[in-house]
Amino acid sequence: MNAIYPGSFDPVTYGHLDIIERAAKKLDHLIVAVLNNPSKKGIFTVEERIDLLVEVTKHLPNVEIDFFSGLLSDYAVKKNCFTMIRGLRAVSDFEYEMQMALVNRKLNPKIETLFLVSDSKYAFLSSSIVKEIAQLNGNFSCFVPKVVEEALKDKFKGGL
Ligand code: ADP
Repeated sequence: MNAIYPGSFDPVTYGHLDIIERAAKKLDHLIVAVLNNPSKKGIFTVEERIDLLVEVTKHLPNVEIDFFSGLLSDYAVKKNCFTMIRGLRAVSDFEYEMQMALVNRKLNPKIETLFLVSDSKYAFLSSSIVKEIAQLNGNFSCFVPKVVEEALKDKFKGGL
């Protein structure tokens, strides 16, 4: 089975990587797709997010990194892949994730969303939290791979 793991990945954290590694083990092929959303400007450009994802998944031969703009349901048709992977951290994720899964299935009934429950180690971890710690000069090395840590330090060098 092939699947798409869509998200912002601004930037990729160990929480995302855990989902990618666990999903890749169960799948023939996993496409990690970075959403290019012009109305939600991230810290990293889509190209930078892709480069970081490529770097941290290079040990996973069945994982491909791509990006998409617009509707996920249109991207699913383009890739001819209708299984979505999402991660669930806490009950707080549930409402939004359920809404997205239902909307996507409404837009295209072929789309199924599969949820992987976060590892308890990463249940509190989000890209936003990591960005906040980085911005405030805290130690976030246990939340992201080294290459992401360096990229974040670089972004916040000299303040924003
Ligand atoms: P969004 O698409 O809401 O901007 P992200 O790009 O950060 O969110 O996340 C993409 C997917 O990865 C979502 O399903 C999210 O729940 C999941 N995810 C993010 N952080 C973690 C984590 N620490 N553990 C498990 N899943 C996570």
